[in-house]
Amino acid sequence: MGQTQGMMRDMSNQAAPGGRPGAVRAILQPPGRGATLPASIGRLSGQRGGVPEASVLDGLSRMPNRQAFFRDIARGTGGRNTLVLVTLADARAFDGMRAALGHVLADNFVRAGAHRLARIVGTGTPIYHVSTLAFAFRLPGSCAPSAPPLIRRIVEGFREPLRLDGIPIETRLGIGLRVSGGPGASPAEDLRAALSAAQQSHAGKSGWAWYDLESDEAHRRTFQILTNLTAALEAESQLELHYQPKICLATRTCDSVEALVRWTHPVLGPVSPAEFVPLAEATVLVTPLTRWVIDAATRQIVEWRRKGLHMRVAINISPRNLEEPDFVEYLLFNCAARGIDHGALELEVTEGVSADEGSLITDRITALRALGFHIAIDDFGAGFSNMAYLTRLSANTLKIDRSLVSGLAAGAQNGRLVAGIVQMGHDLGYKIVAEGVETERELDLLADWGCDVGQGWHFGRPMSADRFFDWHRGAWDEQPPAAARG
Ligand code: C2E
Ligand code: MG
Ligand code: MG
Repeated sequence: MGQTQGMMRDMSNQAAPGGRPGAVRAILQPPGRGATLPASIGRLSGQRGGVPEASVLDGLSRMPNRQAFFRDIARGTGGRNTLVLVTLADARAFDGMRAALGHVLADNFVRAGAHRLARIVGTGTPIYHVSTLAFAFRLPGSCAPSAPPLIRRIVEGFREPLRLDGIPIETRLGIGLRVSGGPGASPAEDLRAALSAAQQSHAGKSGWAWYDLESDEAHRRTFQILTNLTAALEAESQLELHYQPKICLATRTCDSVEALVRWTHPVLGPVSPAEFVPLAEATVLVTPLTRWVIDAATRQIVEWRRKGLHMRVAINISPRNLEEPDFVEYLLFNCAARGIDHGALELEVTEGVSADEGSLITDRITALRALGFHIAIDDFGAGFSNMAYLTRLSANTLKIDRSLVSGLAAGAQNGRLVAGIVQMGHDLGYKIVAEGVETERELDLLADWGCDVGQGWHFGRPMSADRFFDWHRGAWDEQPPAAARG
């Protein structure tokens, strides 16, 4: 009761143009409590035949809903116009707000947002409540690429937070603009495209964005990758591990291999791990992905052993995996089930991993090393390297990032840096691996500085398991291994 009153008090100060607080009060009343639709909102529905039937009114805002939007477009005369889609907040943030403040306040947030939008847009333009947080309306013609003055007024008008029961709650407005009514585009597609533009608008400063085919396609590709990855993990042949040799620089023999995942998508073709692994890492999918890699790598170790090849395999682990409660158990179970020693696996963890003393990740890494797994710090030098961090992490190997190695031949500065890392790494007890060795010159410099192992196209590209087996056999028949190409 107090809540509703507080909000009504606040909202009645923001009366619609024409200053009719009664209209505001009616919008705020929950449906089914005898709320009469104020004339200003009644007109929003368009229109033909006055107040629309209940089935095409949104239960919260009492604005015409998505069905009404499609119905009115079908009845309309067509022609090009600008479809504007306004979202009040990000769906995830809204869920959080609902969890924290309750359904009543969350509903009132939507109502208050609807009301403010209606007040700014004015009574002559029908507004449709097309999904919980989204409102759509159409403006005649198109002024792309600039925005109609009304759009700027909406951005300005929502700078002030909504006040709900005395609590100021900020909106996070997204505004998408789409020229609609063009040949071939359906109203549903126009609406989807305007929503994509509204999401895109968060990337800029203006608060609004015109629909852009390129960013929409990138968005759709991301969506497709994420939705298809689960199927790929279950399919027989979409994912595959390729193996890249790491060469001991003193003996020029193969020290071990790194397993790198490859995905051939049935429609998109090859998708780089540099694209899909970060997406998986941003979601829960990184758990099944890494488990798939662990399964495939340990199976391969057994298969190669059967053929007489004993090779340590490095797999890439996401920091999120280290936070999983049963990650260590999964590894142990897998090794035990396949009968392989823990030392046959190396776990590469990226340099950026947070390694505060006593943190869960640091403890897990220490525990894994104590269990006999080899641990490598991957991509060292790619980010803001924190040297103190090297003293805290319990790892065997330091992998110098390709970005430092590839500049070696060009400049003395990089050379001093890499030589320094090799020296310091050795002092701290690390084995040093240089990534991305592409030339003989880089190899010579690294060998002179005492780097232990090199990995890169100079020795061999990542290759299928069978190809690696043949490469390995061939490479030692005809030295040096650089003769082999993946
Ligand atoms: P990374 O772990 O640092 O792997 C090395 C990357 O450098 C690989 O790219 C490899 O193909 C590439 N590379 C190796 N030598 C050379 C060279 O001489 N020149 C150049 N230009 N590139 C070289 P890839 O396979 O595209 O993998 C990219 C990244 O994706 C990996 O970087 C790793 O962070 C991630 N990734 C790959 N497979 C997995 C996986 O199974 N699990 C996880 N979590 N991440 C993976
Ligand atoms: Mg790696
Ligand atoms: Mg790396």
